[in-house]
Amino acid sequence: MNVYDSQLIAKFLIKNGFSSVNTPEDADIIFINTCSVREHAETRAFGRIASLNRLKIDNPNLKLFVVGCMAKRMEEKIWTKFPFVNFIVGPDNYRKIPDLLNDSITRGIFTTENNSEKYTGCIASNDRKVSSFIAVTRGCNNFCSYCIVPYLRGRERSRNHKDIMREITLKAFEGVKEIILLGQNVNSYNYGVVNFAGLLKMVQTVPQIERARFITSHPKDVTDELLDIISSSDKICNHLHLPLQSGSNRILSLMNRQYTREYYIKLVEKIRGKLQSVAITTDILVGFPTEKEEDFKATLDIIRRIRFDFAYMFRYSKREGTRAAELGDIPEKIKGERLKEVIALQNKITKDKNSELVGKSVQVLVEAKSRRADEFYGKTKENKAVVLSGNVQIGDIVNVKVSEIRGWTPYGKVVYE
Ligand code: SAH
Ligand code: SF4
Repeated sequence: MNVYDSQLIAKFLIKNGFSSVNTPEDADIIFINTCSVREHAETRAFGRIASLNRLKIDNPNLKLFVVGCMAKRMEEKIWTKFPFVNFIVGPDNYRKIPDLLNDSITRGIFTTENNSEKYTGCIASNDRKVSSFIAVTRGCNNFCSYCIVPYLRGRERSRNHKDIMREITLKAFEGVKEIILLGQNVNSYNYGVVNFAGLLKMVQTVPQIERARFITSHPKDVTDELLDIISSSDKICNHLHLPLQSGSNRILSLMNRQYTREYYIKLVEKIRGKLQSVAITTDILVGFPTEKEEDFKATLDIIRRIRFDFAYMFRYSKREGTRAAELGDIPEKIKGERLKEVIALQNKITKDKNSELVGKSVQVLVEAKSRRADEFYGKTKENKAVVLSGNVQIGDIVNVKVSEIRGWTPYGKVVYE
């Protein structure tokens, strides 16, 4: 979502005559887009902000913007700790940015919550030529007990499908082949009579768009209608990112995830029954307050059973103001050990599953040049990264015969049929 928001901001700048440069030293304006989901991200952002002070000394006219969730959560701290920062702008206030580009104002904080801001009429710039993000909802109403997002990005609201389709059509004319629909919980998209399955039906009618993806799906909101539209469409990719978080019912309940371990296992069985060669990926959060060894074992057990194609894994980070912050915290050492164990388990599964592709032919959308001069990088419909060689151009969809696994990335040559 932050990548998309940065592209939204970039468009405001382009419209005002600015263009991007390759190094911070060459910039007249610098934006730091921040995330508050975990403390680690905030610490890194602070480090980055501090490091920009030296540029300000060389170029006193440089304007520094801190935007995103941290701008809202820590406005006072940023304001006092970094007096060289000019503007602090929250996720609902980016429309203000064009006004701040002239010299009539030099410092300010703009972080008012605005639950009706959907950036209607704004088209994000697209620097990922082949594949492009598009936000379909903003905010979140789920209030998972560990999560700061609903407090910083406000209530969930769905963009008008006409606005979304206009953005997609314009991107298609710019050469975009793949659209990735974004929302904290895309499945709850709802605008008038159009639900998420209905939106996907519309997206796949754009002729130049060859693939449509979406993230993130909350397990409680995956409907049969959604699975049916994925199954009946050539364009909607057979990949679901379904954050599990924990395999322990006690912890899931404390997290306010609104599903049980049994429900999740059944859901995965249903998805795999309905969709051919579907990939299921997930998020795992270890070390939630009060998590005991047996809770953690339940998480390892469900990971072994389900065998996810890929997982993002995190250690719990206490966020002041959330309900989980009142439940205490378990020692960092235990969290660290659990994280290591879960990563080792899942990485092995990811590698084993990718190894199953050796000898098979997969369909890849070529996204970019790879590190080696004669090789390219792309993704399968199941969202697996593949390195390939052959006579191809960026944007092509080609069949690749996988011959080996490098690290855990499948590699192969293009086959022509
Ligand atoms: N709306 C999406 C994304 C939320 S943030 C979703 O529901 O999946 C992405 C991931 O960050 C979450 O799935 C969760 O695993 C992790 N996360 C959220 N809050 C966290 C916290 N306080 N500490 C550690 N990880 C957290
Ligand atoms: Fe956070 Fe839960 Fe909303 Fe995802 S669904 S953004 S984890 S509150």
